[in-house]
Amino acid sequence: MKVPLLDLQAQLAYLKDELTTAVIRVLESTRYIQGPEVEALEKEVAEYSGVAHGIGVSSGTDALLASLMALGIGNGDKVLTTPYSFFATMGVVLRVGARPVFADIDPVTYNIDPKKMIEVLEADEDRRIRAIIPVHLYGQCADMKAIMAIAEQFQLPVIEDAAQAIGAEYPLATAQGMKNLRAGSMGLCGCFSFFPSKNLGGIGDGGMVVSKDHEFAQRVNLLRNHGAHPKYYHSLVGGNFRLDPIQAAALRVKLPYLDGWHAKRVDNAQRYDRLFHQAGLVEQGHVEPPTAVYRSLDSTSAASHYHIYNQYVIRVSDRDALRDWLLANDIGCEIYYPVALHQQKCLGPDYHGISLPEAEKAAAQTLALPIYPELTTEMQEYVVSTIAGFFAKK
Ligand SMILES: *Cc1c(COP(=O)(O)O)cnc(C)c1O
Repeated sequence: MKVPLLDLQAQLAYLKDELTTAVIRVLESTRYIQGPEVEALEKEVAEYSGVAHGIGVSSGTDALLASLMALGIGNGDKVLTTPYSFFATMGVVLRVGARPVFADIDPVTYNIDPKKMIEVLEADEDRRIRAIIPVHLYGQCADMKAIMAIAEQFQLPVIEDAAQAIGAEYPLATAQGMKNLRAGSMGLCGCFSFFPSKNLGGIGDGGMVVSKDHEFAQRVNLLRNHGAHPKYYHSLVGGNFRLDPIQAAALRVKLPYLDGWHAKRVDNAQRYDRLFHQAGLVEQGHVEPPTAVYRSLDSTSAASHYHIYNQYVIRVSDRDALRDWLLANDIGCEIYYPVALHQQKCLGPDYHGISLPEAEKAAAQTLALPIYPELTTEMQEYVVSTIAGFFAKK
């Protein structure tokens, strides 16, 4: 049996007609820059996320970049973030001329550890940390209750890197009492990616900044179009960060399916969990399945979306050999991410000698398995029995 890490053909099989219609609609409209499809998607995603504003941009990376630019972060500034994420999270900090500083991760969720954040903020004697970028890794929100309290204490804006977590929920106290809030709606802004492998993926690159803050959203809106308003009058220096209307039209087809896809990913994750236990792999200490730590406030909503499983990531002891074994058995898998950010070569000597043991351990021990919505029970059983076979032969 062949089990790919992600099978977009399986999705295309039932979306092809709708997507074709949407793409042709843009083609025939001749509105190839901005326009009604982009505006409609912005409204729909903002509403879905529970915020007032959405600004479509060219990628998740540019969503983060434009957010930092909108805050005026640059030379001499520092940004506090996680050492365990996709490179873009730190790349944007470096690109605006600022320095990333890292707080180690929680070993259970792989998200930034608030206790470590406080240590880093208290050690920042020259007070150059200007913003916090938590990442909701693999589809589970970071500990936003603690993070927002820290942000308030240190008076810092929070840019949520929600590239992997659109629609993920988190229970947070609001003026109206406890609420299930969605990724991207808790900090100053949230940044989504529509890279094809994300839960809401386009047919190319795309991204969005969502925010409840009107003034901030206005700045991002200006920055994505060279800071121009009106046309040819530039109050800010921005870039071309615009979202392609073909992407917007395709994403509008997919958005109504998103909650159903989340539910299937949650089902698949729970099935893997059961299968790993049944095979004795958890008890024997070979496989540590991911942990969804937050629970729905609403006890009637059984299928909680507190983890939307953009990736289903296990921790294993002999990771590299297991990966080779799975690939040899036609099972797609991937290491997200093999090198912690503070150990990336591009950072230079200032970062040598920094030790963030939990991030380093995660980079050495984790492996993502196929989890896409169309994955079948038989495929999952094959994945787990193949992993059991690996540990049995050792
Ligand atoms: C995918 C991703 C990004 C970047 O998104 P692109 O659309 O590929 O630019 C940023 N941060 C995280 C955590 C991601 O997973």
